[in-house]
Amino acid sequence: MYKDTINFIKELYNTNDFIPLHEPRFIGNEKKYLNECIDSTFVSSVGKFVNQFEEDVAKFTGAKYAIATVNGTAALHTALLMAGVERDDEVITQPLTFIATCNALSYIGAYPVFVDVDKETLGLSPEKLEHFLANNSELVNGKCINKTTKRKIKAVVPMHTFGFPIHIKELIAVCEKYYLEIVEDAAESLGSYYKGQHTGTFGLLGAFSFNGNKTITTGGGGMIITNDEELAKKAKHLTTTAKIPHRWDFDHDMIAYNYRLPNLNAALGCAQLESLPNFINKKRELAALYKSHFYSKSLQFIEEPKETKSNYWLNAILVSNLKERNAFLKETNDNGIMTRPIWKLMNKLSIYRFAQIGNIENAQWFEDRIINIPSSVRV
Ligand SMILES: *Cc1c(COP(=O)(O)O)cnc(C)c1O
Repeated sequence: MYKDTINFIKELYNTNDFIPLHEPRFIGNEKKYLNECIDSTFVSSVGKFVNQFEEDVAKFTGAKYAIATVNGTAALHTALLMAGVERDDEVITQPLTFIATCNALSYIGAYPVFVDVDKETLGLSPEKLEHFLANNSELVNGKCINKTTKRKIKAVVPMHTFGFPIHIKELIAVCEKYYLEIVEDAAESLGSYYKGQHTGTFGLLGAFSFNGNKTITTGGGGMIITNDEELAKKAKHLTTTAKIPHRWDFDHDMIAYNYRLPNLNAALGCAQLESLPNFINKKRELAALYKSHFYSKSLQFIEEPKETKSNYWLNAILVSNLKERNAFLKETNDNGIMTRPIWKLMNKLSIYRFAQIGNIENAQWFEDRIINIPSSVRV
């Protein structure tokens, strides 16, 4: 059935071996910086690469401040705390996301509420959010209260799915109206822009992931970005055991986290970041090749929303129904090409089945039809 596509992907990667969904590329200064790091003996919580990596990410994204963390989930957890999310608050996010988005808010004891995604962007829909809030919330003393649960809705976490920027300007307008903070889950969207501005810089804070399958990797790692100096300082403090700087004394002024990124991982990150512009060019080239291939098929290649520039982290296609989805997954995986469906909707997981949901027809429609196809940078 899908022989053309299977052959096309094998030609793209010039191999008959197994083709993974997304593998990292180390074609720059990775070994050099890692060796420097090891030679210096500063491989752990102290060393120059962490500061360097933070400065480089801030510069790349245009954010004023960047705080490195052990992974993207820790970055999201910290960012939500910085946005003022507390136990028993509610946080609105999309049902179509990776589990980390929900876990991060659950660590705080907050509750997720799921609002639908947009048909064009695959991310949180401003229109659906407005509709949900108009019907389900009331403003009391500058707070947004959920009429059903009586809990405070504190924040909104949009996620830029596969690197496609959401309609963030429209989302900001809705959130301002309802006094809601925005924390962007930009884990997948390093190198993606909305009207020329980098994703993650629109909300109060944004979070990136440098897991092994992301556009660039530090092995494991994450980053918080913000333009708020005070929040940046607080985030650094909270992710470094809240130690008061002193040459020998141990003093910690709050119960905090050991979320700091080790220097070794940061060294890898500095080298990967140098390759990022090249990776993004190559990923966009690959997306263009996929686009022309699928143009003549009944399968629809998903393209970046208008007025945005996507990093095309994971390429995705839309098939016509669940049956076709499963047939495509089986045939490609049987032939050594890794493909996978989009995540199961969060509200269908046993752990989040209690969550309140709006009308999530688009998310449901996508769940049955989206497939990710190999997206590694071609070398
Ligand atoms: C990768 C990812 C994260 C963070 O993952 P870590 O593995 O903790 O770095 C968070 N949200 C989304 C949507 C992701 O894809």
